[in-house]
Amino acid sequence: MEAIRAPRGTRDVLGDESWKWAHVLKVCREVACDFGYSEALLPIFEHTELFSRGIGDTTDVVEKEMYTFTDRGDRSITLRPELTASMVRSYLEHDMRRLPQPVKLWGWGPMFRYERPQKGRYRQFQQVDFEILGASSALADIETIDTSMELYRRLGISNLQVLINSVGCPNCRPAYRAALKTFMESRLGEFCDTCQSRFERNPLRVLDCKKPGCRELSESAPLVVDSLCGECREHFDVVTSGLSEIGAEVRVDNRLVRGLDYYTKTAYEILAGELGSQNAVCGGGRYDNLAEAIGGPHVPGVGFASGIERIVLTMEGQGAHPGEAPRTDVYVVTASPDSHMAAASLLHEIRVSGISADMDYMNRAVKAQMKHASSIGAGLVCIIGDEETSSGTVGIKDMTSGVQESAPREEVLARLAAWRESRGTGR
Ligand code: ATP
Ligand code: MG
Repeated sequence: MEAIRAPRGTRDVLGDESWKWAHVLKVCREVACDFGYSEALLPIFEHTELFSRGIGDTTDVVEKEMYTFTDRGDRSITLRPELTASMVRSYLEHDMRRLPQPVKLWGWGPMFRYERPQKGRYRQFQQVDFEILGASSALADIETIDTSMELYRRLGISNLQVLINSVGCPNCRPAYRAALKTFMESRLGEFCDTCQSRFERNPLRVLDCKKPGCRELSESAPLVVDSLCGECREHFDVVTSGLSEIGAEVRVDNRLVRGLDYYTKTAYEILAGELGSQNAVCGGGRYDNLAEAIGGPHVPGVGFASGIERIVLTMEGQGAHPGEAPRTDVYVVTASPDSHMAAASLLHEIRVSGISADMDYMNRAVKAQMKHASSIGAGLVCIIGDEETSSGTVGIKDMTSGVQESAPREEVLARLAAWRESRGTGR
């Protein structure tokens, strides 16, 4: 029988990589605290309408990428492709309008999109997500970009390119839509089938099409920035000047539209050269009509999501140091079968005292136990055998210096603590 493998587009994050993830999440949590976001742990699946109405049913995500199924109660359920719609759903469901505004939420976890897997692009991937709900001020837009940049700075990532644009609002979009349709109409046959089918329903999506032919055609398309209404124009000016005020280097890219329909006004993307063709480490923007699109009142919002796999790939590419890997401090060697229980009880005491420790469960000979100790990076080895048991002592070997001494059993914990203190906690 053939062994079962993980489904295409999923990855197992193990050992060396998993502690990098733990580091990234730790830094996210610290940034969230410093910038005043509270954590929201939301369900991984939601009603399909949340995404079809929220993200927009003519987007790639909704049209081609969702993991949707009917559950046993005949409901259409979708594994979340992103977090923003769920955040807004949660804000509305818990009537967070009662709270002092804005409400700032952050969250993280797996997202699911049926995509063509490649480096930096998976079918199950993880995002961290920061959202400011209830504020229409451009200051909130500035803050989200500042938050993401601070997150990357603390992770040791540099050299990022921030692209920003305004995609307008329902006041100015009809004029732009009309201009875009006029432009497309004359050469409609040259666009790909998907773009042609979206021409009536959502011509803006054409600007986000990744097909080279469509990209080339849309080079000469009219720009949304030329159709902005006064309010959107002013909002965009405040965002860009505010960002230069705080020293954030951003580049206005008037061709940037994001893959999700809910964006209004500010849209941005942060790119990292190390990622190759999947170069977006972060996507974000304002979504003032999302709450209404999913059946709620008007709630303005702005935020961003960043892919953890791509954060880790960028850190690796830039040689950013992801903190110390957790290590085992102490290994307890059993020098005779009769001392197994004594070793197990010492092991327990060491761990309870807050020092990481391990011992052999595989019946290894003493020499092999020492080898195992060094393979897991233990700094100290405690040795318990017949001799030690009868004299009430424990052998302690420093694996770095090779020096071995004998200590009374009751002094072992204090000695280990002093050793740990001298080498730093490493946690
Ligand atoms: P892309 O243009 O690469 O498809 P996107 O615009 O679809 O990205 P968003 O929906 O804005 O991405 O999601 C925010 C971030 O989540 C992206 O910038 C990226 O870091 C990450 N991301 C999105 N899709 C994937 C995926 N399939 N695999 C890994 N990371 C992803
Ligand atoms: Mg995508």
